[in-house]
Amino acid sequence: MSTHKPSFVVDAMLGNLAKKLRLLGYDSKYDSSVEDSDLIKIGEKQRRVIVTKDENLSKSAEKTGVMSVLIRGNDEIEQIVQIAKKIGLSDFIIDTNSARCVNCNGKLGSIDKIRIMNKIPSGIYERQEKFWMCNDCKKIYWEGTHFEKLQEFVQKLNQRLK
Ligand SMILES: [Zn+2]
Repeated sequence: MSTHKPSFVVDAMLGNLAKKLRLLGYDSKYDSSVEDSDLIKIGEKQRRVIVTKDENLSKSAEKTGVMSVLIRGNDEIEQIVQIAKKIGLSDFIIDTNSARCVNCNGKLGSIDKIRIMNKIPSGIYERQEKFWMCNDCKKIYWEGTHFEKLQEFVQKLNQRLK
């Protein structure tokens, strides 16, 4: 995949999809209370691709010259396939260096486990070696939570894109 990744603004109905895109390393703006007209403004000003289930919104976006992907159905793999096909993405990878925080879209940085000892359950502290922290909201990540489960998702996703 090229180093220049598209960024997204995701409509209020698609919170789970926004989280997946963030874990996959895509800068994805999401706010559950955002208005449709604001989505288009954000897309235009910040050059983000609008991801929406709303056909009218998608049409108005395209009229304004903002790229949008109209999402159909509720299957998350299928939804990302729709995005990938529309804007030409392939070979999704899990890269913890580029993954973004599911909470706030902040960047994750790896962190020495000794520094977060008091912030996570001791069982997890003992079992896990690698940890990451969101630079913005300070949420802590480890492989067993998000990235392991994501592995299977990404395999299925890439399979669908072949
Ligand atoms: Zn965060």
